[in-house]
Amino acid sequence: MEQLSSGLNLQTLVQAHVVSIAPRGSFNDILHGLQKNKGLGLVVEEQGQFRGLITQREVIRALGKGYAPQAITADQIMLPPDYSLHLSDLDDPLAVLGHFRRLGVDALAVVNPSGGVEGLLTRQALRESLRPVDLLRIKRVAEVMVPDVATITAEASLEEAAALMAARGVTSLVIPEKTSLGVRPWGIITEKDLFEALQHDGGTLSGTVASRMSQPVLTVHPEQSLWQVNHLLKEHQVRRVVVVDDDGQMVGIVTQSNLLAAIDIAEAQGVIQVLTRELNKATAELRWQLSRQQAITVAITESEQRYNTLISHLPVAIYRRDRDRLWQFSYVSDQIYQLTGYFPQDLTDLRQIIPAPDLVLAERDIEQALRQQRAYSTTYRIQHRDGCFRWLSDRGQLDPHSQMLHGVLLDVSDQQRTEERLKTSLEREMIVSTIIQDIRQSIRLEEILQRAVTSIQQLLLSDRVLIYRFLPDGSGIVEVEATTLPQYSILGQVIHDPCFSKGTAQRFLEGRTVTISDVNQAQLQDCYRELLLSLQVQANLVVPLLQGHDLWGLLIAHHCRSPRLWQREELFLLQRIAEPLTVALQQAEMYQALELANANLQQMVYIDSLTDIGNRRCFDELLPREWRRCQREQQPLSLVMLDIDCFKAYNDHYGHLQGDAILKRVAEILESRLRRAGDLATRFGGEEFALLLPSTDQAGAIHVVEKIQAALAEANITHAKSTVGPKLTASFGIATTVPTPDHSPAILLSLADQCLYEAKTLGRDRWVAKEL
Ligand code: GH3
Ligand code: MG
Ligand code: MG
Repeated sequence: MEQLSSGLNLQTLVQAHVVSIAPRGSFNDILHGLQKNKGLGLVVEEQGQFRGLITQREVIRALGKGYAPQAITADQIMLPPDYSLHLSDLDDPLAVLGHFRRLGVDALAVVNPSGGVEGLLTRQALRESLRPVDLLRIKRVAEVMVPDVATITAEASLEEAAALMAARGVTSLVIPEKTSLGVRPWGIITEKDLFEALQHDGGTLSGTVASRMSQPVLTVHPEQSLWQVNHLLKEHQVRRVVVVDDDGQMVGIVTQSNLLAAIDIAEAQGVIQVLTRELNKATAELRWQLSRQQAITVAITESEQRYNTLISHLPVAIYRRDRDRLWQFSYVSDQIYQLTGYFPQDLTDLRQIIPAPDLVLAERDIEQALRQQRAYSTTYRIQHRDGCFRWLSDRGQLDPHSQMLHGVLLDVSDQQRTEERLKTSLEREMIVSTIIQDIRQSIRLEEILQRAVTSIQQLLLSDRVLIYRFLPDGSGIVEVEATTLPQYSILGQVIHDPCFSKGTAQRFLEGRTVTISDVNQAQLQDCYRELLLSLQVQANLVVPLLQGHDLWGLLIAHHCRSPRLWQREELFLLQRIAEPLTVALQQAEMYQALELANANLQQMVYIDSLTDIGNRRCFDELLPREWRRCQREQQPLSLVMLDIDCFKAYNDHYGHLQGDAILKRVAEILESRLRRAGDLATRFGGEEFALLLPSTDQAGAIHVVEKIQAALAEANITHAKSTVGPKLTASFGIATTVPTPDHSPAILLSLADQCLYEAKTLGRDRWVAKEL
């Protein structure tokens, strides 16, 4: 079973301390009790044991059946004891919802193991505590799918397909295949396919459905959840899926708009249904009376009176009107006053208070339903006499005998508002989870930050969303931003906030956020207000971005064109996105540390630890590279081998430590004498050094070597045991060539070595140079 994301604890939703009534309780007691329980429901109890449940519906049904109020007792009308939940049931919210759905009630008693009543749980409370996503998880495809699927044959022309789509008001057609069991979806063609065909054929629709339809058809099972459908739609980038049963036979279609429509929580629908049923029954009764007794007036009056009593405590008006386009009531119940502020006699025509665009849509809904000979149901706004707009639900049907419309009007403003909020928050929820997923999947920080601000900006429709990074001196920089207009851009700007203090930082570290709806009106420090105004800010939202225990920066939404009353959800949204950003920042920090460690490690591999110049490995890697480069550029490459004279004797006389110090010294001299960018000195091994001199001919190399010799002499290092003289000297082998593919770097190295050997045998403290 799927889990609800809200992690509900249903115990907290149970309304405890509810009023109860004895089985013999009178009608008056029932009304009184229900009222005390705010209409939730009334528990019938006997000696501490739960006996049954009464809701408003039972009362209305009893009246509808014609029971005399004074004769009604609680046990006559109560629902049986199985209209209850056990405490243990509360652990499974989905099962509880299933229970509500199966029993078709709006409240259930919660009963403890010893049979006593713990309280009431209402469907309303449960629904309100669910998140929009949960609603998608709870609902099944079967509940929202459209069973009447528009179909077309594969041989039909695209023109016919377009005509059919227009006539049926659909955006796709299924190409069915007959099977022994029924019909299987074989292919599907959408508005988009037609459009593409149109573009492809230069503005005309030619060819058959078969040439443009897609196969195979994406399908779902009626028992799958809408959440799964939503995933499927997203994954395949389509807007509809066909519903098939266990045998693969087509039973319906689900579109994206069905999904959104599924979160219709207008629970009032239940009440309306009951009332419509009552109304129909009464209409039939009325006709019967008409024919039999011809006591027309009396019957109507009586019957109307009965409805008025029946619905007097509900914000519902019943009407009867002509089927013409004037909407003139021939009867409307007194409740119209609660809904509109007008008395029935003052309001013969409802249209006068319906805004024009709503009227157009409502008339279309009603006409369409009547054409198809079914009951109509529409929702529109009316302007109440107090000037405010309210939402009315209008449901009814045509009475074929009188050709009059019989209907019910209900104020659904609250539901409408909740529904609209739910829809936007559901859409937002989906976008936010995509952003968060995006952030988690990327490792490039800049990309993550940029994507986050762009998405937030699109979501909030604010003028500027930015990430502000603190600099060490307390100022900050606009690191990334997304704006609606170029003139709002402040990207890269360094901002010195004169009001920013240690205290401010500390508060941000503790999770403080800022919400300003109107910079000019809010209570702010003057310096902060001035700063905001200088950045064109009229309203802002700020949440901190932390890196470990440090305040790294701020995630900010600015509104520049006007003040803006931010909604709590909008701040939550920023906070929710800041969370994964914080994780990303932390990862980026670790990543940087890792890169640094890697770079150090890399260096260690190529650097000689004694002399701090490149080592043999470094030389081995660079020699072939320089060889290739000089070959490409047809430039000479010189390689110099240097070996200190009589160094064994030096070590023996002065000790190894002193010997090491000399090696460092020589390395320093080499480094300081190699001026050109590409020149490289490496310790080749022991007391031997190798110099790589790219783009240097023999004369140049000799020049470098002589400078090194001079520097060595200048260093004036005493070497008492040298066979050459009183000071430390070195011998050099110089090999030069313009590299060609016929030779290899190894030959150049061996030539340098050979030269060095000759220099030694010729008496040391000298160079020998050769060209390859
Ligand atoms: P030559 O003039 O022919 O070069 O005589 P030499 O004594 O320098 O002979 P050779 O080049 O064969 O000597 C190598 C000596 O260098 C051996 C060792 O004492 C010394 N040596 C090699 N590596 C190191 C080192 O890392 N530190 C120190 N202190 N001495 C080293
Ligand atoms: Mg040597
Ligand atoms: Mg030597």
